[in-house]
Amino acid sequence: MNLVLLGPPGGGKGTQAKRLMDKYGLVQLSTGDMLRAAVASGSEVGKKAKAVMDAGQLVTDDIVIGIIQDRLKQPDTKSGVIFDGFPRTVAQAEALDAMLKSMNLTMGHAIEIRVPDEFLIERITGRFTCAKCGAGYHDKYQKPKKDGVCDSCGGTEFTRRADDNAETVKKRLDAYHAQTAPLLPYYEKQGILKVVDGTQDIGKVTADLAAILG
Ligand code: ADP
Ligand code: ADP
Ligand code: ZN
Repeated sequence: MNLVLLGPPGGGKGTQAKRLMDKYGLVQLSTGDMLRAAVASGSEVGKKAKAVMDAGQLVTDDIVIGIIQDRLKQPDTKSGVIFDGFPRTVAQAEALDAMLKSMNLTMGHAIEIRVPDEFLIERITGRFTCAKCGAGYHDKYQKPKKDGVCDSCGGTEFTRRADDNAETVKKRLDAYHAQTAPLLPYYEKQGILKVVDGTQDIGKVTADLAAILG
């Protein structure tokens, strides 16, 4: 089973993808994570992407489509993929449909995690991640059980994303509404769009997703 999680920056896509990955044995493909890894490694792709990401704009379709195309060649994706943060434009969605078709695969569900804009600045400015294992946290909504210690791996170093500031969030929300929201009618037409209320607490959102996935 392949599925795509849609929704605004800070809406909870990554948080839920990690939970579904464990529950259903799916692989999470986050183009945001892959692009940040490319930036950190100083690769050609990373050099091209960095300024665009810092400005809260979208990296070109060619770059992200290329990244996903390469990743889908790896055998671990056969058991099913959660696309998180990709596609983000109609052109990316069309390219993904073509890729899946050529591999004899289909998209099972496109699920919108719906969260109004007024929630998102607080979600994003409070977000932090374990530097060692990548587990995601929030200053208010998802604190580690023991202050300063990662629940998953015991790590004590955490990172915050350079683009997780109030000013850049506004630009990312503009990009979401202008370029990504058109994917909702795109998947609606395919008859695979579902919506969950992303303002509920994290466990309730997971339960609603699980009810859809079965
Ligand atoms: P996205 O991947 O869509 O950008 P994240 O999953 O990283 O979003 O979530 C953004 C921040 O909000 C994180 O700090 C996360 O811990 C927190 N968060 C995620 N889901 C919820 C929720 N349902 N309620 C409150 N906070 C949440
Ligand atoms: P969030 O879900 O919190 O907005 P992501 O980690 O998905 O953040 O993305 C971070 C940044 O990486 C985006 O603002 C954008 O610059 C770039 N990016 C990630 N995925 C894509 C994509 N599919 N197309 C274009 N740019 C992308
Ligand atoms: Zn950790």
